[in-house]
Amino acid sequence: MLNISQIRAQFPILDLEVRGKPLVYLDNAATTQKPRAVLERIQKYYECENANIHRAVHFLSEVATRRTEEARVRVARFLGARDSHEVIFTRGCTEGINLVAGSWGRANIGAGDEIILTEMEHHSNIVPWQILAAEKGATIKVAPINDDGELLLDEFEALFSEKTKIVSVVHLSNSLGTINPAKTLVEIAHRHGALILLDGAQSVSHIPVDVQDLGCDFFVFSSHKIYGPTGIGALWARRELLEAMPPYQGGGDMISSVKWSGSTWNELPYKFEAGTPNMEGAIGLAAALEWVEGVGLDNIAAHEAHLLEMATDAVRDVPDLTLIGRAKEKASVLSFVLKGAHPNDIGTLLDARGVAIRTGHHCTQPLMDRFGLPATARASFAVYNTEEEVEKFVEALHFAREMLV
Ligand code: PMP
Repeated sequence: MLNISQIRAQFPILDLEVRGKPLVYLDNAATTQKPRAVLERIQKYYECENANIHRAVHFLSEVATRRTEEARVRVARFLGARDSHEVIFTRGCTEGINLVAGSWGRANIGAGDEIILTEMEHHSNIVPWQILAAEKGATIKVAPINDDGELLLDEFEALFSEKTKIVSVVHLSNSLGTINPAKTLVEIAHRHGALILLDGAQSVSHIPVDVQDLGCDFFVFSSHKIYGPTGIGALWARRELLEAMPPYQGGGDMISSVKWSGSTWNELPYKFEAGTPNMEGAIGLAAALEWVEGVGLDNIAAHEAHLLEMATDAVRDVPDLTLIGRAKEKASVLSFVLKGAHPNDIGTLLDARGVAIRTGHHCTQPLMDRFGLPATARASFAVYNTEEEVEKFVEALHFAREMLV
């Protein structure tokens, strides 16, 4: 059993009062708060270790380079990668998917080729593929879900043809909480000769991930959703794929030589990391992963599952409330609508009581269209949330309903 008060004490922001009320932060799927271990690690970096990396022989540059590369090794270990050079630092999930679409996609997708996505994708796993498909004359096929928010596996498999080149699927849906059966999807994609990318934006902080066990080809995640700093994330891909892919951006560090007659590329992972990287971010992310490993992802998942179950049971008593996303395999996310109330109004009334939830389309407009909704309200849980906070949230929800319906 985790000691949640001890965990909360490590997050300075959780002591805030907002609107004169103690903050109840339930917008963790959008971004998580940061423990002191991460904040202090970043401060230490700037106080004792900061210099540009890979470029100088001086002491500080060597220290900063070493720390950044140690961070890469930690990310690789966290993801179960066999080789840290398979980990590319990115700005986050969005850049990771753009990198794959822009580099692998440009080189491998042609006119008439097919890309499979699902109805529950985040815009960052839709738009890069739309840009690619428009450029190449490729087609996007969309796998449907049922009313509970679960992917329909037979329909998914029926979309494949010999033209299918890649599947890109969210591992854990930010709008529904659905955990997709990643290994099954990988097996289906590979059986049909297609590659598969898993969008791990939401999954890494709730489900232990092992890319080798999953068998996927690409995996992306963002640091800020797993207690780390913003502006950093990682793409993992199998070495053979990365070796064969052209650079994504040009600039310093990604080259081995530059001549007017042409340039040659650096080895992995630097080929994909043009320009001064986000050293502070990489080091902060490593501190966050160390923190998460210290608490234990299994413990985190068990605590969040308990809160989700408690909240799901409690909101059943709120009249006119419909849950959006009732998958059997689900984590951390409680999306809902209240008949007769706009989600934004629910969010505003909850905010007046210090309860921070998300309202809107959650960057999943096609999914909202699928449910015939403009928006939902969404509470999402992290390890530092408490039973008492769930109670406050449900109480505030009853109050909002009385005001709005
Ligand atoms: N995919 C999913 C499922 C997400 O929840 C998010 C963030 N809301 C993203 C991708 C994009 O992540 P980022 O904005 O950190 O690049």
